Amino acid sequence: MISVAIDGPAGAGKSTLSRKLAEKFGFIYVDTGAMYRAVGLKFSRLGADTQLNCDIESILAETTVDIRFAEGEQRVFLDGQDVSDDIRTPEASMMASAVSAKPPVRAFLLDTQRKLAENNNCLMDGRDIGTVVLPNATVKIYLTATAEDRAMRRYKELIEKGQIVEFKDVFDDMVKRDYNDMHRDIAPLKQAEDAIVADTTGLEFEQSFALLTEIINKGIAVNENN
Ligand code: C5P
Repeated sequence: MISVAIDGPAGAGKSTLSRKLAEKFGFIYVDTGAMYRAVGLKFSRLGADTQLNCDIESILAETTVDIRFAEGEQRVFLDGQDVSDDIRTPEASMMASAVSAKPPVRAFLLDTQRKLAENNNCLMDGRDIGTVVLPNATVKIYLTATAEDRAMRRYKELIEKGQIVEFKDVFDDMVKRDYNDMHRDIAPLKQAEDAIVADTTGLEFEQSFALLTEIINKGIAVNENN
């Protein structure tokens, strides 16, 4: 099976690029951030805040997170309910970051993520795909851009969805979330040693798409020749 691992900080364009790249290459797209967001949503619905002063393991024992694909599009189900739209708020982002630092949560999702890559050619994005989930991925990419660029992209996305947000809040949240993701003890966000860095600062979508297509094509060719 071919697997493409794309990691990087928030707002570097991972989801949008990954979805389109998966479509182009005919792979399934696995957005692991959506799985963490679904778990975060479960905890917020139970009244937890980002401190997570609750019995995490017992809650997970009564939680299911499924990924289903409809026409190549990933939908995320929490306890049987499609929550794909509910998980895209700034609050859900912060809760996802909080739950993702908890080892039982990571263990809970790891198996599902690996199984998806075992059974399908896939493009998987997240924070620890090249380092932990798929250490033998065919191609590993570390996608990044300056914090200003990333926050501006996220700000525009949220405004387009009709959410009322301030740029400064989006920027501050993003910096905080990246800090948490990079400094947690378990599976922190970092570049895998064998990952290729793609910096999308100042690039339009089409330019980033072309850059990643080239990296993936080269990586697959190298793999076939080995
Ligand atoms: O990618 P996205 O912004 O949707 O991810 C939400 C949060 O989920 C991240 O800030 C990170 O804390 C967590 N996450 C993770 N490992 C992954 C994917 C996401 O810890 N593989």
